[in-house]
Amino acid sequence: MTTLSVTNPATGSCIRVVPADDATTVAAKASQARAAQPRWHAVPLAERKACIERFRALVVRDLESLAATLTRDMGKPVAQARNELNGLLGRIDFFLGAVSASTATETVFDEGGMCEQIEHAPLGVVANISAWNYPWFVGGNVFVPALLTGNAVLYKPSEFATMTGLEIARLLHEAGIPSDVFIPIIGDGAAGAALLEQRIDGLFFTGSYATGAKIAQTLAGRMVKLQLELGGKDPSYVCADANVANAVASLSDGAMYNTGQSCCSVERIYVHASIYDEFVAQFVAAVRGFVVGDPMDSGTYIGAITRAPQLDVLEAQVADALAKGATLCCGGRRLPGPGNWFAPTVFSNVDHSMELMREESFGPIIGIQKVSDDDEAIALINDTRYGLTAGVYTPDEARARGILSRVNAGSVYWNCCDRVSPRLPWSGYGDSGVGLTLSTYGIQTFCRPKAWHLRSAS
Ligand code: NAD
Repeated sequence: MTTLSVTNPATGSCIRVVPADDATTVAAKASQARAAQPRWHAVPLAERKACIERFRALVVRDLESLAATLTRDMGKPVAQARNELNGLLGRIDFFLGAVSASTATETVFDEGGMCEQIEHAPLGVVANISAWNYPWFVGGNVFVPALLTGNAVLYKPSEFATMTGLEIARLLHEAGIPSDVFIPIIGDGAAGAALLEQRIDGLFFTGSYATGAKIAQTLAGRMVKLQLELGGKDPSYVCADANVANAVASLSDGAMYNTGQSCCSVERIYVHASIYDEFVAQFVAAVRGFVVGDPMDSGTYIGAITRAPQLDVLEAQVADALAKGATLCCGGRRLPGPGNWFAPTVFSNVDHSMELMREESFGPIIGIQKVSDDDEAIALINDTRYGLTAGVYTPDEARARGILSRVNAGSVYWNCCDRVSPRLPWSGYGDSGVGLTLSTYGIQTFCRPKAWHLRSAS
């Protein structure tokens, strides 16, 4: 039997060895889902909604233990694990509130005995290959609307969030979702690759550009709906007229929350020259105030780095920035183990020749670059292969709207950052991916608009 060893990144110790899927069990699970999906589609929407309502109640019931499991899985500070679970509840509420109207059959023409309707039919069997950094969010963005709209879901949690993935399955099944309608696939990239070999109708992926590109190549030529939510190198620009203290409070959190391991973490900051020194001094003071430590402690703000190899990426970005003349303001090194730890790191005097300003860091590290005007800031913001989010800080709404309308990013922020709303679509430009989740579009994306041409007999 294939097994997967689950390790706590904050301690380096093995939490559990769990049975994992191989090509044979993945194929069997895919067949089960294929057989079960029409029955699930036939269940009235009100009943499917009732299952998700019960799932929500179970998340509330078990919230403390689920938060602890998430923290042990991937090193997220437990206060932030609680925030993620509470945030999930709001997303479920949105989906429950919006699904009926956004998937109701639409009559678009009805004249002279000819009726035309659009049905929002389920895709069928969808595969969801997920990331570890917000497993409840990025998983829930897919499996909640997918199940509500009548799809069967083959859900592969990241190997770095396995225990959380198993908890998600346990609670969905306890809530009444049949065990052959929501099926966890446990394992690493090999289990994900085996999933791609199955007959599926949609592939919803959240993870790195490298894996996303590989998946797109594997599925090329197959008529499978493909959504890829990938990485980012998200910028923010602090204008000369911004309130520096407010911008620092917002951006230091946006850069370091979840230990910098968010797809929409702020990873580049541009600050007008007139306030640059003041901004950098206040930013460094804020970062020095963040508590690094045991993620199970509610007072901890910076936890462990989930994947050990990311420490090498962070070290390489530090070395490259130093070699090219950046100023290290704080941090810049691994912290002693056991487990995977990196000191919160701030660089000033950076530029776009440095990896730190070009490639996703996915850790508690940030570069702050000086700019001379809005046009320079916009050019630097758009000088990236990614385009997930971008922000601007200024009291002037017209100025902010003018800047953000010229920015190539799926989500844009005025005086805020690192924010996701269930009411708004989540998508990216460029190598940040294709497709979207959330909003009413993120419900309809799990449906195929089926065209009905109905001529009455008489
Ligand atoms: P990853 O690409 O390493 O892994 C993602 C998933 O893909 C895992 O479940 C993994 O097991 C699976 N996988 C790996 N190789 C595979 C293969 N060959 N075939 C099929 N599946 C395979 O990414 P990660 O480290 O889990 O997540 C971090 C990345 O995710 C970052 O780049 C981050 O920006 C991105 N992310 C994006 C969003 C978004 O909404 N755009 C949200 C969260 C995370």
